Amino acid sequence: MLPRLAIVVPCYNEQEVLPSTLRTLTALLLRMDSDGLIAPDSYVLCVDDGSRDDTWSIICGAHKDNPLVKGISFAHNSGHQNALIAGLNTVMDRCDCAVTIDADLQDDPEAIIKMVKEFRQGSEIVFGVRSSRDSDTWFKRTSARCFYKLQKAMGVETVYDHADFRLMSNRAIHLLGEYGESNMYLRGIVVRIGLPTAVVTYPRTARMAGETKYPLSRMLSLSIDGITSFTAKPMRYIFYLGFILLVIDVIVAIWALLSYSHGHTVSGWTSLILSVWFLGSLILMSIGVVGEYIGKIFVEVKHRPRYAIREELF
Ligand code: UDP
Ligand code: MG
Repeated sequence: MLPRLAIVVPCYNEQEVLPSTLRTLTALLLRMDSDGLIAPDSYVLCVDDGSRDDTWSIICGAHKDNPLVKGISFAHNSGHQNALIAGLNTVMDRCDCAVTIDADLQDDPEAIIKMVKEFRQGSEIVFGVRSSRDSDTWFKRTSARCFYKLQKAMGVETVYDHADFRLMSNRAIHLLGEYGESNMYLRGIVVRIGLPTAVVTYPRTARMAGETKYPLSRMLSLSIDGITSFTAKPMRYIFYLGFILLVIDVIVAIWALLSYSHGHTVSGWTSLILSVWFLGSLILMSIGVVGEYIGKIFVEVKHRPRYAIREELF
């Protein structure tokens, strides 16, 4: 049987690009349908993330003209990740697989064809990976790459140069639903689901119109979320830092006591310098210990699934 495909498009103030995006995506659906790749009742779901421009009226108009276009609208701007999650929750059990793609079509919609082919060959999650980012500014490219490396160093597993352009099977969407945390960083969670995956590459192009909705401040907060939602390691590093300072403290103490015994010091300096170093390292280590406990609470409150079963022979 042909799979029913849902294309989920988060939209925040996208009135400039949305009409052409919807034309491209609906044409793509019709083409894939006539090529016998997907079921004819496949559709596009636009998630209006509390836009303040005409985004929602464009979606309503498109829905009236073409029932392949569907939409949901948020009362408030809740952010890209939440728009994606709402979209996936809405299409859950109303599709066999769903592709999430940004409204500006910087990610090549043609790659959706390759994704669906991978899905039909058994992959449950297909990552869209950018083969080149020449269209991004130097700053965006470099900051993104540095961030991927930092994440890796912190032990957060992600797919390099993959953003939120991916296909998920209905089963994968269900498993994603088991992650109850409200601060979701999808790119990190999707790789933990543990279903068979595949990768499709494409060159990333420039935004067709409108401005980026990810200024530096949002990029930074996404990056911080990407690390702090996955690991309490930064807190452990505080403890290590305190410990290193304690070791240095011994050297400083020997030096201070030697200077004192040679009479090279002003009165009061030795005791002052000894206590500053000792207390400094002690305070850092104590913060690190408290951090370890906070880290445990952080893991507990997430109520994440403890394991991911890949297959069952029962
Ligand atoms: N977006 C959203 N809510 C927000 C910010 C962005 O739904 O609060 C959507 C936006 O409409 C677009 C996608 O997220 O479809 C990615 O945003 P953008 O293309 O501006 O990011 P960039 O490609 O510059 O990183
Ligand atoms: Mg974009």
